[in-house]
Amino acid sequence: MKTNHRSSPNRRPRTEGETIRLIVLHATYMAEDEDALQRLCDPATQVSCHYYLARDGAVTQLVPDAEVAWHAGVSRWTFPNGETLENLNPYSLGIEIGNAGPFGKLYPKGPPKELEQAPDWTQAEPFTEVQYSALATLLQGLMARHNLKLEAIVAHSAIAPGRKTDPGPHFDWVKLHALLLA
Ligand SMILES: [Zn+2]
Repeated sequence: MKTNHRSSPNRRPRTEGETIRLIVLHATYMAEDEDALQRLCDPATQVSCHYYLARDGAVTQLVPDAEVAWHAGVSRWTFPNGETLENLNPYSLGIEIGNAGPFGKLYPKGPPKELEQAPDWTQAEPFTEVQYSALATLLQGLMARHNLKLEAIVAHSAIAPGRKTDPGPHFDWVKLHALLLA
């Protein structure tokens, strides 16, 4: 698939043993793709991701897979083999999906932290059809390249429960899995 490139300074090399075991899906909770891309490339924010998926389905790579992007933060995951890892940036790829959740009208640049947990999700911006199809194509490539199974694809909310809600309850996992298994 066609991939655009920008460079985020918010990254570091992976070191020995820091293999990619998860792909973490995020939503930006920002109203504009360009605002989100700038935030993810701003050294002052100390946040980034490997891939940005815009509302029109365009994919932009900000950090090479071989390097660590700063998207997961304080996080924890127990793998099917029972092993638990914390602070998952070194062991994951991060994909940010352009989507305002229910915050776009009130907080176009993102909600205050204390409001993220209990908004009215019925008001959330829908993810676009081209986002689902582009995401499936992107994920199929990444799963093949890094030898990952479907269970490696997780929500930010799953690795940081109580702290993060993204990509949000309006994200359609059934549709994504159907596209991936097609
Ligand atoms: Zn996130």
